[in-house]
Formats: sequence, C-alpha cells, structure tokens
Amino acid sequence: MSDAKEIKVMDRGASYVLSQLTKAGYEAYLVGGCVRDAVLGRPIKDFDIATSALPEQVMSCFPRTAPTGLQHGTVTVILPQGTYEVTTFRKEAEYEGFRRPASVEYISDLTEDLKRRDFTMNAMAMDGAGVVLDPFAGQKDLASGVLRCVGTAEERFGEDALRMLRCIRFASTYDLLVEQSTWQALLAQAPLLRHIAMERVRSELQRMVEGPAPARAVRLLMASRLTAHLKKQLPLPFERWLAWDDALDTVSALEGQHDRWSLLLMLLEMPADTVRTALQELTFSRADSDAVVAVLALREVVAAQYKGGAPHAASVDPAPLERVWKLGAVRSGESAARALLRLLRVLPQNLQQRGELACFLQAVAPELVRHGDEWLSKVPCFSLKELAISGKDLAEELSLKPGPRMGTLLQQLLERTALGEIPNERESLLHTARAAK
Ligand code: ATP
Ligand code: MG
Repeated sequence: MSDAKEIKVMDRGASYVLSQLTKAGYEAYLVGGCVRDAVLGRPIKDFDIATSALPEQVMSCFPRTAPTGLQHGTVTVILPQGTYEVTTFRKEAEYEGFRRPASVEYISDLTEDLKRRDFTMNAMAMDGAGVVLDPFAGQKDLASGVLRCVGTAEERFGEDALRMLRCIRFASTYDLLVEQSTWQALLAQAPLLRHIAMERVRSELQRMVEGPAPARAVRLLMASRLTAHLKKQLPLPFERWLAWDDALDTVSALEGQHDRWSLLLMLLEMPADTVRTALQELTFSRADSDAVVAVLALREVVAAQYKGGAPHAASVDPAPLERVWKLGAVRSGESAARALLRLLRVLPQNLQQRGELACFLQAVAPELVRHGDEWLSKVPCFSLKELAISGKDLAEELSLKPGPRMGTLLQQLLERTALGEIPNERESLLHTARAAK
C-alpha cells in the first residue's frame, strides 16, 4: 500500500468541487468508498464528497446541481466531467426498526460524520491536497487485511442490520478477515436481518456472487447463518452448499452473473419451479430469474431421462441423449443450453457426493460436454420465429383457426425440425402439418 500522502486519485471534477466549497469557506472532503479504493490503489467507481455546507449552500456554489437526496442532505453537482454527490456532514437521528433512519441531523464536525459509517475502511476522508484523515485507523486495518466495525460492532449491526450483509460482501470482495468482535456481533445480531427489505438483501447477494470471490461469500454466509433470518423464508436448503465445497470454488471460473447463479442454485438440488418462487421472493428481475430457471429446467429434463437407474458414464447411450438434449434446448432456449454446457465444463469431474445431481454430473455431464455443442449446431431452429412457416400459413393453407390446437401443431413441427426429421422448408412443413391435422 502506498503512503497516504502520495495518493493521487483526485480527478479534475472532484478536485474542482472540493476547491469551490473550500473557497466559499466550507470544509469539504472525499469520503467513503473512493478513499478506501484510493488507499488500496484500486480503480475508483464514484466520488462521494462530504461538506460542512448545508444543501442550499452547496447549490449556491455551483451553476448546475440536482437535489437528488435532500432528505439525506445530498445534492448532486453536475459538471462536464461527471456528477458528484455532495452530502452535508450529518449524524443519523434515532435508528428505527433496525434500519437506517429517514431523518438526519446536520453537524459541523467531520469526525462525527465518519463515526456513523459502517467499517473503519469506509470511515476515512481525504482533503483536496490528498491528505487522508483516518480517525478510526482504517488504513491500519486495510494493511493487515481486517474488516472491523467503527465503534461497538453489536450496536452498529443493531442500528442497521443491512451492515451484516455488507460485512460479508466486503470481506469476500476485498479478501479481508472479519475482525473477531465484529464477527461475534454479526453472529449475535443475525436474527435482526428479518427487518431488512428483500430488495436490499438481493442487491447485496448479487454483488457477492458477481464479485471476485463468490465461494468465500457463500462460506461466510453459511457460517453466519444469515440466510436463516431473511424477512421472507425461502424454500431453498442453503446448507446443501456445504456438501459441495470443491464445486463452489468453480463458480468464479464463470463470467456472467446468470451462469454463477445457475451453478450455485443447481447445487441446492431443488426443482426449477421452486427456485423460480425463491427468486421471486428475492425480488430478482423477471429476466434474471427466467435466465437462471431455464438452465435448471433444462438439466432437470435431461436428467429425468435417466430416472430410476443411476447411469454410469459407459452406459449412457448418446443417441437418446442427443434427442432429449435437442428437445430440451428447443423448450428452454439455445442460450440456456449453451449456459448449461459452460457450467458442466467448469464443474469438477471427480465427485465424492451421492444423489441425483452427482450421478448426473458423473455420468451424463461428460457426454454433454463432449457432444452438446455439436448437437446444438445441428439444430436448424430453436424457436417458432425461426420456423419456415407461421400460424398465418397454417390458417391460410389448412384453414386452421388460431388456438391451442394450432399452437400444439406448430410446436410439434418445430421439435421435429429441430430433431432433423423434417427440413425447415415451407413445403415440407405444410405437408407434415396436413398429415398431422
Ligand atoms: P461500493 O460503492 O463499492 O459498494 P461504498 O463504500 O462506496 O462501496 P456505498 O454503499 O456507496 O458503499 O456507501 C458509501 C459510504 O457510505 C460507505 O463507504 C460508508 O461510509 C457509508 N455507508 C453506506 N452504507 C452504510 C450503512 N448501511 N451503514 C453505515 N454506513 C454506510
Ligand atoms: Mg459507493
């Protein structure tokens, strides 16, 4: 880590905002994540500024501002270089319901403002000359790789239970050890997480999973038992992750967040429909949930082929597998099929586990990894949109009325085309449709 005094992070816009405020006679500092990332020599996402100026005074210092969070004392300064959030020094009034309060009290002292922040590494400030003000020794904690609450951890988590999830997120994404009394407090206060809106929980979980160390985040979540204390009970047996230790480590080999969630949720061995319900409770967007559930549903369909007898790699006959794979890909979509192959490629080959998923991974997955892409490349169309005839053609040529019957017929044509039984050509498709009608 570099010496604090040499840190040169200030971008021109941030530097301008600080100098305008100090010229007008106020105190102004960079605070929070940008100072932390500067100290660590990491790229800075956004510059947050704290000042002794009141919001209306901030607004009078700059030609263009937006009152983006007046109730928290925040004004956004708009410059050609970008936007900068400027917040008046404040302390939070009484915490209510274990969440951060709606009302704030303005104060004139920077240290008081830093004191309300969650972790020592997030409670540092930097002035316009690049000097770091660090009343809670955040730099020392960062240097020794420790994540520690500002003040008494039990109180801090009691004031705002979301901090417990932020704790696990920061510990995993910044590769820090949670200091002992902070961790003990987290274990003690875990039940308070039930007061936190599921949206905020989801956002933290997503950032953990997208981050550089999703497996570490999962292990910390399991050790903390935070998932047992969510506002809504989810129908997912998270503790099953503990049985997939080596598989967890492969999650970070996947790039996209959908792939990562699909793999993590696959390891819980729950029906795709149950996972969909859980993702809804977690307020995942429809698109995110659909993408993940499609992958799980596809694996389920393929695995169902082998229900009853646990297959061995040697006994998996490629011909029926090719068929069920292509049909599954048509039903779940090509992108789900490609995604499932990416997951199967990163998962470990030698598994100690037992059960349906382990059997699938040992016996079926190697065949899919070997042939899956090639089988997909032989599928001429995956969706009705790509089929060479439409419902309109069936209506005109076969006098079929739109309705469920027509839907089923089109789906049959699509599937037979996907399997290579009929070419994707108008005449052949009409011929088949006439025969099936
Ligand atoms: P990142 O943006 O990478 O998540 P950050 O530290 O900038 O990290 P923000 O959520 O943007 O996090 O918050 C900015 C600062 O506000 C934090 O650094 C911290 O000082 C303070 N802060 C944010 N959330 C809380 C909270 N729940 N409790 C106390 N302080 C908080
Ligand atoms: Mg931030």
